[in-house]
Amino acid sequence: SLSKIIVVSTLSSGSLIAYSEANTNNRNRGRVAHADAVASKKKKVVVLGTGWAAMTFLKNLNNCIYEVEVVSPRNFFLFTPLLPSVTCGKVEARSIVEPIRNIIRKKNIDVRYREAECTKIDPANNKIYCRATANTNSKRQEEFAINYDYLIIAVGAQVNTFNTPGVEGNCHFLKEIDDAQKIRRNVIDAFEKASLPNLTEEERKKILHFVVVGGGPTGVEFVAELHDFVNEDVVKLYPMVQNFVKITVLEATDHILNMFDKRITKFAEHKFGRDNIEVKLGSMVTKVTENEICTKAKGSDKTTSMPYGMVLWSTGIGPRPIVKDFMKQIGQGNRRALATDEWLRVEGVGNVYALGDCATINQRKVMEDITEIFKKADADNSGTLTLKEFQDISNDICERYPQMQLYLKSKPVRNIFGRPSQVKGKASKESIELRIEEFKSALSEVDTQLKNLPATAQVANQQGAYLAKCFNRMEECEINPEGPTRIGGTSRHRFRPFRYRHLGQFAPLGGEQTAAQLPGDWVSIGHSSQWLWYSIYASKQVSWRTRALVVSDWIRQFIFGRDTSGDT
Ligand code: FAD
Ligand code: MG
Repeated sequence: SLSKIIVVSTLSSGSLIAYSEANTNNRNRGRVAHADAVASKKKKVVVLGTGWAAMTFLKNLNNCIYEVEVVSPRNFFLFTPLLPSVTCGKVEARSIVEPIRNIIRKKNIDVRYREAECTKIDPANNKIYCRATANTNSKRQEEFAINYDYLIIAVGAQVNTFNTPGVEGNCHFLKEIDDAQKIRRNVIDAFEKASLPNLTEEERKKILHFVVVGGGPTGVEFVAELHDFVNEDVVKLYPMVQNFVKITVLEATDHILNMFDKRITKFAEHKFGRDNIEVKLGSMVTKVTENEICTKAKGSDKTTSMPYGMVLWSTGIGPRPIVKDFMKQIGQGNRRALATDEWLRVEGVGNVYALGDCATINQRKVMEDITEIFKKADADNSGTLTLKEFQDISNDICERYPQMQLYLKSKPVRNIFGRPSQVKGKASKESIELRIEEFKSALSEVDTQLKNLPATAQVANQQGAYLAKCFNRMEECEINPEGPTRIGGTSRHRFRPFRYRHLGQFAPLGGEQTAAQLPGDWVSIGHSSQWLWYSIYASKQVSWRTRALVVSDWIRQFIFGRDTSGDT
């Protein structure tokens, strides 16, 4: 006697009500079949990656209508902001990783993890192809495909060498936990090597010449760690060689820490100067050989080269091959990252989302939309608008593009609109025309600023949480959409667009001093912000386990100094 299963799938959103009329004699079989039927009707969400974006998405997703499959070659989440601390032994590697299975086992929804790399995305057939990380010596076991209803691409980015000869092979990178461990071993090896008896002074100097290419946050933080290590531990452990240590930073632009406030940049450059860290601005690396690094000064053709012991390359990121291939398929060939709309949907592919370092919100599209809104508001096609129309537009734009609010309040735009109290009555046609022009040029200014949503954990984290919230409320918002009205239509978008809230950023500069840049132009540099740094980074840990480990590492280092055993 077969159990009768009736699955009723209703609502446009695809939410479902499943009803099983199990035969009383065969209750168990009925239950199993029922569960299968429900499972097969669940929406399949495939998540690529276990980094910041993917982890926050998974942590926040709690709607049972989904069945989730996570694919990533890395079976743990890595707390990247503390990666530089691992390079010199301030923090242990295992303290900043959390097994992904620890995170998903706490979920009340159906989540599976596969340790594999996605090798190809086939959007036409809603399918991805994967290759297992483990070598099983069997193609059948190693390669598999997964179908999806929704695909979430959060594969991050990779180191960019800008095709500079010799970088691959001679330089260190700092992206994954292995990189940090390798650097740590190399730093300690360098001090041991330089302490051997039969070396000339020149040779010791070469071995202990540490070069960092790229004066961004990662490079600067590594320099700060290395400098502290030399000052606090090397002086005690390797006193004979401490005077041979040299640290050089090579930066192609005019300043280090470009993305920070000028006050911070200046402070950092001064501090490094006092600390005998050589910062060479405007120097481009052209080549790295086994023994030398070649640079070219900005605006000149002369190249110089210097011997080095170790080079850290941290100049920026570029797209991974899987993302490049996907971009080519969907006609985004020459972009730096996957273009999405403000709902994080990959442009032109309805059920694929991209977030974190592998994606950017396409602001050009945003600008086109705004031009559309302008045209629509100008009902009589005169090319001008009344002030009332103007205000309506600005409200509409703010609703549609919340990021604009910030800028509409900012000074240049306020000058165009005038203060709210002044905006009343009519304005002459000419003055309004002028204002439209001013408004447009202010917007294109905003456009260039918006384009550069930074590739940070902060952005990835907020995007993951945002997307999970959308997924959690998919059915609800299908019925009661809460987004802005669609351009050229009357219906509303299901969700509000993603909005980034910048919470500030830190640049640890060594010597228990940190520069903090907080919202509202607030800059603080010194020991107090170092404590803020400690407390924020402790609170941001994904689990109590890693939090405890990190804090105890800090305490251990305060009391006993860094571990220099070199093989951990
Ligand atoms: P990631 O966190 O890089 O995750 C990508 C995931 O995708 C990984 O799990 C990876 O294994 C997986 N993956 C890769 N290829 C595939 C594939 N083919 N198929 C499936 N999965 C794949 N940001 C801050 O805001 N503050 C900081 O202090 C800070 N410090 C940093 C320090 C360092 C040393 C570094 C390297 C970065 C730092 N960042 C910081 C930046 C931050 O780490 C990134 O912006 C963030 O990790 C981006 O998150 P993501 O999820 O996009 O990518
Ligand atoms: Mg991720």
